[in-house]
Amino acid sequence: MAEPTKTLCPYCGVGCGLEVMAPAQPGKAVNRDKDGTPIWFVRGDRTHPSSQGMVCVKGATIAESLHKDRLRYPMMRESLDQPFRQVSWDDAIVAIVNRIQVVRFTQGPDAICMYGSGQFQTEDYYIAQKLIKGCLGTNNFDANSRLCMSSAVSGYIQSFGADGPPCCYDDLDETDCAFLIGTNTAECHPILYNRLRKHHKKHRNVKLVVVDPRRTATADGADLHLAIKPGTDIDLMNGIAYLLWRWHDLDHAFIETHTNGFDQFVEVIRHYPPPVVAERCGISEADLSMAAHFWARSQRILSMWSMGVNQSSEGTAKVRSIINLHLMTGQIGKPGAGPFSLTGQPNAMGGREAGGLSHLLPGYRTVQNAQHREDVERFWGLPPGKISPSPGRTAWEMILGLEMGEVGLFWVAATNPAVSMPDLERTKAALKRSPFTIYQDCYTPTEMVDYAHILLPAAQWSEKTGVMTNSERRITLCSQFRTPPGEAKPDWLIFAEVGRRLGFAKQFAYNYSAEVYKEFARLTQGQPCDQSELSHTYLFEHGATQWANPAAQASDLPEKPGLLGLVRPAPAAVSSRLYVDHQFHTPDKRARFGAYHSRGLAEPPDDRYPFVLTTGRLYGHWHTQSRTGRIEKLRVMHPNPFIEIHPKDAEKLGVKSDEWVEVRSRRGMARFPVLVTKAIAPGTVFVPMHWGALWADQAEANALTHAEACPDSRQPELKACAVEILPISAE
Ligand code: SF4
Repeated sequence: MAEPTKTLCPYCGVGCGLEVMAPAQPGKAVNRDKDGTPIWFVRGDRTHPSSQGMVCVKGATIAESLHKDRLRYPMMRESLDQPFRQVSWDDAIVAIVNRIQVVRFTQGPDAICMYGSGQFQTEDYYIAQKLIKGCLGTNNFDANSRLCMSSAVSGYIQSFGADGPPCCYDDLDETDCAFLIGTNTAECHPILYNRLRKHHKKHRNVKLVVVDPRRTATADGADLHLAIKPGTDIDLMNGIAYLLWRWHDLDHAFIETHTNGFDQFVEVIRHYPPPVVAERCGISEADLSMAAHFWARSQRILSMWSMGVNQSSEGTAKVRSIINLHLMTGQIGKPGAGPFSLTGQPNAMGGREAGGLSHLLPGYRTVQNAQHREDVERFWGLPPGKISPSPGRTAWEMILGLEMGEVGLFWVAATNPAVSMPDLERTKAALKRSPFTIYQDCYTPTEMVDYAHILLPAAQWSEKTGVMTNSERRITLCSQFRTPPGEAKPDWLIFAEVGRRLGFAKQFAYNYSAEVYKEFARLTQGQPCDQSELSHTYLFEHGATQWANPAAQASDLPEKPGLLGLVRPAPAAVSSRLYVDHQFHTPDKRARFGAYHSRGLAEPPDDRYPFVLTTGRLYGHWHTQSRTGRIEKLRVMHPNPFIEIHPKDAEKLGVKSDEWVEVRSRRGMARFPVLVTKAIAPGTVFVPMHWGALWADQAEANALTHAEACPDSRQPELKACAVEILPISAE
């Protein structure tokens, strides 16, 4: 049998290693899907340190999606009411370049927006930054990661002075207590959950606490499930902190030596005694006390979270409230302990490293930092002042820009905002107003195709070579194993071609993605996410590797000349955890407590809209189903959308399971069949977010959600809005 190609599962941020082999193998029957089409053999890569050979149902069935409904050729149309016509790449690129020039000179560079994706490889992200932020001089590049984990980014930066989850997956095997909040890990990061549960089941003393308004599959395995009311996470965290403070279960030496702001923090948490917190959160004082006891008694406590925390109008405050618990107990920088955000997308972490949000530059730099701008301009061979000091538009601000007629060119790549954005009716109306939208993707149709003037066929992960970074900061080389269909091209190559035609030949003189990664890696030298020693060749030869390294973090090592001036020594060895020396990236090397009172939901329920709608994900589907909707096994697993309603609410509404209801919010309406279940608390209802207009009629969760966002991270509160529910009587 031929040697398999090693790559990475392109779904979630767990980043499981895959091995792929051609459909025809010597001595074996050709591997085919149900339609008879030959498909690649896919199995878990036992040598990948993050997943050790395991894959979930999405990774196991990925081969079925490679050939179906692929966008193969560039297409164009003059207006949205016309049919597309196939065009050459040259015609498409000329049209794009001409439009960019017109918009630049008539409206200015800030009228150009690109909306990218955690599906990008790091090379795609990097070249997009160089094109948009460097050569075009606008910071209007944002990614769907904004909707997923930008609160984790701002929380880490504010608490530690730099982004980056400090933990690693080995911590799951070494913790005494896993504190899971706002994450349905069993369904959304299943391989991590399996690993954690194995450890939990094996050791009687290991505790699993799950905080979630729903009784999810994750909560089913917990020692303690805190079904808090939506929007009361900060109350809970402050309530736990209050008890730890009153019980004197603090790491005074750590607080004294390695943190700032503890006294101000105490001034806030003293207002969160158990009766107040229990009442606000809707839990018992005994359960609150038990959670605090787990924090107090555990030698090593690991908190994990994802969108249930991040997708909130106070997302950054929630993230920092989790981190506060670690700082007051000294639970960071050691095995089995630390605050660990899980990313949704496979390369959301790589996007952060490459500067793929509208306030970032490559290498964990920011656009507002003059030195950072100067370093990057010099490195890219651009004149001083070319990079704008103003943060660009975030995802939702791009939609507002379209609505206001301020955006002259909207370029969407590898994501589907026509389903995933909040307040969908408003989003769709804004998309319709766009004078020129480029949509670059692998699949057609998707809901976004209806809003595009130009379609560009992108090669997907299997058809190009590049790197992705998973939630534990592990970088994996994803090697190409099949030819792109039709004329599809890697995203980075498309961006580079546009850059060259705009007159930046020197900046985009690449032949291979390996050159792109090498250049990006050099730009990270001396930065917190230093990967300057890495290359495609290194990763091919040594396998997936984590950043960063103790040398890059140590403050007392002598600096040496680097590409951009003096830097600390390049990595000698990687460390699986950050902050093992408790030296943080703040100017005084101390972590910062964040003191926050809870503000609650941006849109609480009221008499008119008495229910809180919360949204989430299912085990077998991925985002807007562009890929999983094309895999039969996954479609069969989750054939329809639904709404979960508690039996008491169902009785009041007079509905039973499988009957239909109409759900209305201040913004829109959707219809779902009912699933009556005690998994959801009374007063709250749950809808999965995977169904767009392509897959079901009027079942879009985001038709109901709102765009109120965290003021720091600008991440919208997709997790909660107020709705009313009306039974639909059978005719
Ligand atoms: Fe892919 Fe995530 Fe499943 Fe791993 S856990 S196989 S990365 S979807």
